[in-house]
Amino acid sequence: MQSPDQPVLRDIVLVGGGHSHVGVLRRFGMHPLPGVRLTVICRDTHTPYSGMLPGYIAGHYGYDEVHIDLRRLARFAGARFLRDEAVGLDRGARKVLCRGRPPMPYDVLSINIGSTPQMAGVAGTEQHVVPVKPIHGFDARWRLLLERVRKHAGATRIAVVGGGAGGVELTLAMQYRLRDELRALSRDPDELVFHLLTRDPDILPTHNARVRRAFDRVLVGRGVVVHRNAEVNQVSATRVRAAGGETVEADEIVWVTRAGGAPWLRQTGLALDADGFIRVSDMLQSVTDPNVFAAGDIASMVDYPLEKAGVFAVRQGPPLAENLRRAVEGRALKPYRPQRRWLALISTGDRHAVASRGRLGVEGAWVWRWKDWIDRRFMAKFSELPEMEHEASTVASPVKLDREEAAQAISALAMRCGGCGAKVGATVLSRALGALHPVERGDVLIGLHAPDDAAVVRVPPGKAMVHTVDFFRAFIDDPYLFGKIAANHALGDIFAMGAEAQSATAIVTVPPGLEAKVQDVLFQMMSGAVEVLNEADCALVGGHTGEGRELALGFAVNGLVDADMSSVMRKSGMRPGDVLLLTKPIGTGTLLAAHERLQARGRWIDAALASMCQSNRLGAQCLREHGASACTDLTGFGLLGHLVEMTRPSGVDAELDLAALPVLEGAEETSAAGILSSLQPANVRLRRALRNQQEALSHPRYPLIFDPQTAGGLLASIPAQRAAACLGALRALGYEHAAAIGRVLAQGEAPEPVVLAARKDGGLTRLMRRADT
Ligand SMILES: Cc1cc2nc3c(=O)[nH]c(=O)nc-3n(C[C@H](O)[C@H](O)[C@H](O)COP(=O)(O)OP(=O)(O)OC[C@H]3O[C@@H](n4cnc5c(N)ncnc54)[C@H](O)[C@@H]3O)c2cc1C
Repeated sequence: MQSPDQPVLRDIVLVGGGHSHVGVLRRFGMHPLPGVRLTVICRDTHTPYSGMLPGYIAGHYGYDEVHIDLRRLARFAGARFLRDEAVGLDRGARKVLCRGRPPMPYDVLSINIGSTPQMAGVAGTEQHVVPVKPIHGFDARWRLLLERVRKHAGATRIAVVGGGAGGVELTLAMQYRLRDELRALSRDPDELVFHLLTRDPDILPTHNARVRRAFDRVLVGRGVVVHRNAEVNQVSATRVRAAGGETVEADEIVWVTRAGGAPWLRQTGLALDADGFIRVSDMLQSVTDPNVFAAGDIASMVDYPLEKAGVFAVRQGPPLAENLRRAVEGRALKPYRPQRRWLALISTGDRHAVASRGRLGVEGAWVWRWKDWIDRRFMAKFSELPEMEHEASTVASPVKLDREEAAQAISALAMRCGGCGAKVGATVLSRALGALHPVERGDVLIGLHAPDDAAVVRVPPGKAMVHTVDFFRAFIDDPYLFGKIAANHALGDIFAMGAEAQSATAIVTVPPGLEAKVQDVLFQMMSGAVEVLNEADCALVGGHTGEGRELALGFAVNGLVDADMSSVMRKSGMRPGDVLLLTKPIGTGTLLAAHERLQARGRWIDAALASMCQSNRLGAQCLREHGASACTDLTGFGLLGHLVEMTRPSGVDAELDLAALPVLEGAEETSAAGILSSLQPANVRLRRALRNQQEALSHPRYPLIFDPQTAGGLLASIPAQRAAACLGALRALGYEHAAAIGRVLAQGEAPEPVVLAARKDGGLTRLMRRADT
């Protein structure tokens, strides 16, 4: 949505990736608003679609059929996706407080975070209950329950607390699935006993009598024991107790009762209703703060009390998008009137459903097929995203600016058009950098704490200095995370040498824009970077910040090694017989390329980013302690390129076992689809270093040996007898994908130094066995 030629004038921040916000993202993706940047903060990358959840639980749908990939949707919408959790608001400063990153500023904020279970006052719920809400994390809770029931010997009693549509649907879906599971284990499905408890005299109190009768009949037919007028006020590991004294023995207790607003909202000063939901007007705007909007379960429309149902959250998407657009444009907002009657299609677990609307109630397998058709069509809107051309926008932004902002915007636009290499203004710089707290070291004589023309750093006696530099443009739209990865990538060279990092200077390029926006991007990015540098005890001592078309960051890092070079790990020390270890999985190049083209799953990118954020510091120490004879960090040249950089100066050959390579999830799929990094063709030229390239061409991992890595792992040669211990130690340090991927051979006659082994499996075992002997 945000063209690089268009400075950011306003920020709309969406907190939560609920049913309304996915609609907002899609609409902004289809109809971008020049000058407006969208940012989504959500703790889930894959957000569940409630309409299909019961079908997922019953086993009719797979995970990806019922979850919307927010990272991909945000990419389509040109929005920034920040995987994090909002924990508060600073409304004065217009900032969202996040659990794991600096506060995120907004001009207009929208909240769509669903609801939280209200279990306060019911003793024992904290320890003994599986809450369905928040919808976030329910999948993990459900899988655990599934596992427990599979392992539970004999009868399993399951109590579901809550007799609304959610509770009834969930009971029937769970029963259907769990009976199937027991049958698959050759067990008697009648070992399952279900209880449904409701505080009301009837189940489904908001639906008509015909619908209630249909479900009464189904529940009786399925042997579910329904407890009416049973308000649960106490639970234990084995029992549910109702206010009237009735008790139900239960091995599992599932909680699907009325929910409330997230507790942190109470500190925001926003007007909330009795259940803690945000009171909003017909414009979906907070009645307290015109810059804050809310939709879905978390919103309480003061003029239209609504049931908490996904259908309303979905319906609120389009009017919310319209009003967010109007709010940044400074136009009058449009009221939204929800429909009085709505259609609910409630399933009975077995591909049968009941339709409920007003006094209407019909049922049948055809209702389920109808529901399935509606739900799949809804999901297709978010999985089959149309190709959009986000060309340089020439359209003037409709955002209303004050005089000072207008002047800054005109000057930013002029600078962008000119390609600009100007320095960032001193005020912006000092505000952004002034809030950082780089680690202080005794050997830094002049650094950021007393800035001068250059930093002065002492090399302690007995030490020698290691220098390295790295620089690259932002490949993700999250400046904080990009800052972390850029710093981690730059430090990689220092650690690979067996050195400790001492000091760093930064080189930064930020696109020109409104001062406040430039300042924040700079602050977010450098906060991430300083966090990583501080963790490595590396002092940020200075830098240079200029304006340019794209966000980019690099570091010149200095490190220290023992002056006698005894601790240095070089590329040239490989010895025949050594085992090759790799500390992190490969595949970042193809995955990032696929993300760019909307072809990667959000969770693949999450895992790739987590891997890029993992420091090589402990890994390098571990390799050194286990006698590494050579080491390097994997970056742009890919695995083969870096391996050849080691074999040549070492005067050895190497065997690489393709089957043993640790690979990031999704990388084989994306590379098989021909989605490769733009650097890959240059790396592929090195295939001439392969002795048996033809034999390995069809192996799914073959393209990945050329895949350029960002902040990749360490590749080291370890004496064979110590390799198994080293691998165990690496895994214990958190390098869970560390693997033995080959061995070092004596140099042969052939001119090509690398031979590929493409065994289907067993390569690793064989190597490790060799290593142990
Ligand atoms: C078993 C079951 C079945 C249901 N079936 C139906 C049905 O068939 N039809 C129907 O209309 N309704 C159904 N409902 C109700 C429905 O689930 C909710 O009404 C609906 O999910 C509310 O949508 P929402 O958009 O408000 O929020 P949610 O769908 O709950 O989404 C909230 C999002 O915000 C994120 N989030 C939460 N807190 C934070 C935070 N602090 N920071 C960042 N991100 C955050 C979450 O991770 C999540 O992605 C069902 C409910 C249950 C329990």
